[in-house]
Amino acid sequence: MKDLKTETLLVHAGRHRDPDWDYVNPPVVRASTVLHRSSKDMLDRVFFSGNYMDGKPCYGTFASPVHKAFYEALMALEGPEAAGAWAFPTGLAACTVPLLAFLRAGAHALFADSIYGPTRDFASGTLTRMGVDVEFYDPRIGGNIRELFRENTALVMMETPGSHSFELMDVPAVAQACRAHGIASAIDNTWATPLYYRPLEAGVDMVIHAATKYIAGHSDLTMGVVICNERVWPDVYRTSTELGQTASGDDVWLAYRGLHTMAVRVKRAAESAATVIEWLKKRPEVERVLWPALPEDPSYPIWKRDFTGATSLFAVMFRPEYAGRLAPFVDALTVFGRGYSWGGYESLLIPSYGTRTVKSMPFDRMVRIAVGLEAPEDLIRDLEAGFAALR
Ligand SMILES: *Cc1c(COP(=O)(O)O)cnc(C)c1O
Repeated sequence: MKDLKTETLLVHAGRHRDPDWDYVNPPVVRASTVLHRSSKDMLDRVFFSGNYMDGKPCYGTFASPVHKAFYEALMALEGPEAAGAWAFPTGLAACTVPLLAFLRAGAHALFADSIYGPTRDFASGTLTRMGVDVEFYDPRIGGNIRELFRENTALVMMETPGSHSFELMDVPAVAQACRAHGIASAIDNTWATPLYYRPLEAGVDMVIHAATKYIAGHSDLTMGVVICNERVWPDVYRTSTELGQTASGDDVWLAYRGLHTMAVRVKRAAESAATVIEWLKKRPEVERVLWPALPEDPSYPIWKRDFTGATSLFAVMFRPEYAGRLAPFVDALTVFGRGYSWGGYESLLIPSYGTRTVKSMPFDRMVRIAVGLEAPEDLIRDLEAGFAALR
């Protein structure tokens, strides 16, 4: 699996043919109990070692054949630094549980100000209550994050781009500063997917994806995954299993199936997004479209340097006179769904004004759009009806 391109890995990574059956897909296993041949076998089986790739697990919460296949594929996709992967019942659980491995009362933790809203709530809620000193930083900080480091800084959490504000972070600069100071680093990489950005290669310790989005791709499950380098994997594995965090065989089977077609889905959705964006940019009501792949976007130089593509989630900023007046636009849509989440086959739109992320944006005149797999002409016609309702 070494020299294969990402698209090929998406199809083949993790698949091992069973010589007796030769089916293309692994079986779905629904399991709590695993039976053991002897007392020795029972004790030999993998428990807390974190080495589930090498042996059979002792209990259903640890792994099954399809978990193994999925984890192997995720690791292959994130590159040679990947030492372990784990799945959680939601994307949010993948953004919270692994971080707990590095935090204790009295520790200092840094979170990007543009972090996913519920992750922000975890930081200012649960973590603060536990006695962790939480500080939010400007996502454009780059290597200057060093100036925020203290004796007790234990973790830096990133997200790129912010999923409402769309600024990219200088991830390599932040990751290197963390590495130099022995601080664990994590990133929510849901937007780019492993297709378009691989932060482990930039020196980040933990890459998190809400698999609910592009990986599963069909709006039919919630799941989160973390892929870790060797430095942090034993701690993340221990904490995740101590907290009883795992994803069901059925959900992992669906997510693994989604992974096989992710390259074509994401590529097609992003092409349609580019078409819709070009049309939106010409609308007199629109001040700006926020998508890092646009040459006029402030994040474009970082996008060009670090990313190999862009996905289909972006934001639209209306002109100031539309502040607080976007409801008729949002309510007129019939092809776009009004719903949270993104990365499924259907296009979605939400007003940005409910967001609990960074406050420095005029969210009262912004919407966020997730382009799906419909014909872009139909999406444009739907948006046109929205603009008509605004007038
Ligand atoms: C949706 C999302 C999550 C959380 O995923 P859930 O499965 O909905 O819990 C985390 N981070 C980002 C950037 C997301 O968009």
